[in-house]
This record gives sequence, structure tokens and C-alpha cells, in this order.
Amino acid sequence: MSNRHYEYSKSTSGNLYHEYSLQGGGKSNRHNEYKPTSGSSKKLKELLLKSDNQVCADCNAPDPKWASANIGVFLCLKCCSVHRNLGLDISKVLSLTLDEWMEEDIDSMVEVGGNSSANSIYEAYVPKGISKPKPNASIEERTKFIRSKYELQEFLKPSLRMVSSKSSFKSCASGVNIDSFYSPATSRNASDPSISIGTLKVKVVRGIDLAIRDFRSSDPYVVLALGQEKVKTSVISSNLNPVWNEELKLRVPQRCGPLKLQVYDHDTFSADDIMGEAEVDLQPFIAAATAFADEDFPDNVQVGRWLKSNDNALVEDSTINFISGIVKQGIHLKLQHVECGELELELEWIPLH
Ligand SMILES: [Zn+2]
Repeated sequence: MSNRHYEYSKSTSGNLYHEYSLQGGGKSNRHNEYKPTSGSSKKLKELLLKSDNQVCADCNAPDPKWASANIGVFLCLKCCSVHRNLGLDISKVLSLTLDEWMEEDIDSMVEVGGNSSANSIYEAYVPKGISKPKPNASIEERTKFIRSKYELQEFLKPSLRMVSSKSSFKSCASGVNIDSFYSPATSRNASDPSISIGTLKVKVVRGIDLAIRDFRSSDPYVVLALGQEKVKTSVISSNLNPVWNEELKLRVPQRCGPLKLQVYDHDTFSADDIMGEAEVDLQPFIAAATAFADEDFPDNVQVGRWLKSNDNALVEDSTINFISGIVKQGIHLKLQHVECGELELELEWIPLH
């Protein structure tokens, strides 16, 4: 959790109900507009009286005394403590009896409509063999289910599924076939690595505080590699904060590992010196791109995320957005295996047709 410093305002996107199921619900800044409660707690009480809200949304324990305001579910104490551990960006937990509720939070709960509505999204496709924890389930069992349900979002309708960095990083890095993310049209082509599923446009935006490799500066350029392909930017002379804004394209093979990125200092008379490197887990991006490319989807919505963690190079969480029909991702990386340096990129997906 120590890596997480999101503002809560970011997390309207954490509420899939609002994003995907409410038509035209463009109240994206609602969480910035906190106002103290003024008698609207009646609406919350009415909601709580609905039969589906008289049990915990996650384990069916009776008489829930807690709620996740952004997700819109009522929870028992045990499930509530698991939610709290997920972090505020995923679940904003409030007590029904102890906390003072803001109007915005109550509106958010009322808008979702309670446990049944929320679960119709978050538990749309619970695979066979996985069942909800019972009221007396162990903390481990409970945590596993709740994380799968809200953090990894594994039980959503397939077209809405976002891929979390932690699970996807492993499968991507180890070359596990991710055909399941592709549309039926592409997955029919089995898993020939020579088949491209689309093109990745990478805009190398700029470098920040890059390492010194010459006398007082460096002549940096960036090399990107994906599968068999390699492309590079131009060299910028004597600049530790170079601005490239250069767009490079890479064909994306069907089985795709991470995008590998290296920064070098160009030397005319000797071999170029390395100034750091980083890897970009492309799976959340590709999953979102292939899931959303054909959809008639509202504009400017977040469709996926790659989260900062100890085992990746992210400086901050990276969101994947659907903007004017294009899937885009902004990435801010700390270069690895070097004393200093950061790099900013923008990814854009170009579908096959
Ligand atoms: Zn529970």
C-alpha cells in the first residue's frame, strides 16, 4: 500500500457501475465537490432497507454495518477490513453508524442502487469452481475473492475486463499466451508469433534529469524493442532534459512480451554508453485496446490501468484512456540500472483495419 498515493478524485474510475452501466453519467468530478451531509442520510437509510442490502455484498453475512461508497456496496466488518487494505483508490470504506457521510458519497451509493446492482457488474462472470466466501470464511479466502472481484476485476463481463498490472505482468513476462484477450477474429489465427495484432505508436516525449556520460552532459537517444523489432529516436546533443516528441511505430506480435526501452549516450569515437533502461508491461494496454477498439463507447473514459509497484519502473500509476476513438496510455518511468533519469512516453494503439 505504501506505493499508493492516489487522490481520491481519481477513483470515479474505480466505480465500474458508474462508468459502464449508467448512460451518460458524466459526473466525473463529483468527488472533488464534497459537501457536508444535510439530511440526505434518509436516502441512504432507505437504500439500506432494500432486501439485497441487508446482507454483505461479498460474503452474505447479515446486517452489514459498513459500505464502500465509491463501489456502492454494503459490507460486513470482516469484508470491510479487506476493502480497507485495497486502498482508497479501489474502495472507500465508511461506517453506516460511526462516520459522517458526505452528500457525494450518499449520491454515489444511491446511484448504484445497492448490492444487487453492483454485483450484477462485479460478479457478472464468476467462473465455475470459484464461490463467494461464506460469512465465517477465513481472512485469506475472503481477501482472495475480494481482490479478484474489485482489484483485479476478474469477474466482469469479458468486454469490460481491465487487466491489473500485478497479474498481467507475470503472464506477460513469462510469455504466456494471452490469446484470450483478443477478439474472436484474431484468435482464430491460433498463436503464430509472426502474426501482428496491431501497431503500437510510441511517442517518446522527453527525458528528465538523465545521467551524465560525457564531460558535463550526454547526447541521449532512446531505443525501443518489441519482439523482433527495434526502433530509435534521434540523438539530442548535450542535453540531460531532452524533449524528443518523436513518434515511433512497432508492430505488435500476437505473443508479446514487454516493450523494452534503453537510453544511450551517443559517442562518435567509441561505443555508446548506456544511460538506463526500463520495461513497459504492455498487457493492460493491449487488453484494453483489443477489448475497446470496436466498441461504440463513450468518449474520454478510463479503460484500464497499469499500477505503480515495487517490481516495475513506474513513477506513478499509468492510466489507459479511450479518447476520440483511440486507446492511449501515458507513462512516466524511472530508468533502471542507472544513477538517475526519468522518461515520459505516450502509447497509442493502431488497430489492424
Ligand atoms: Zn462480508
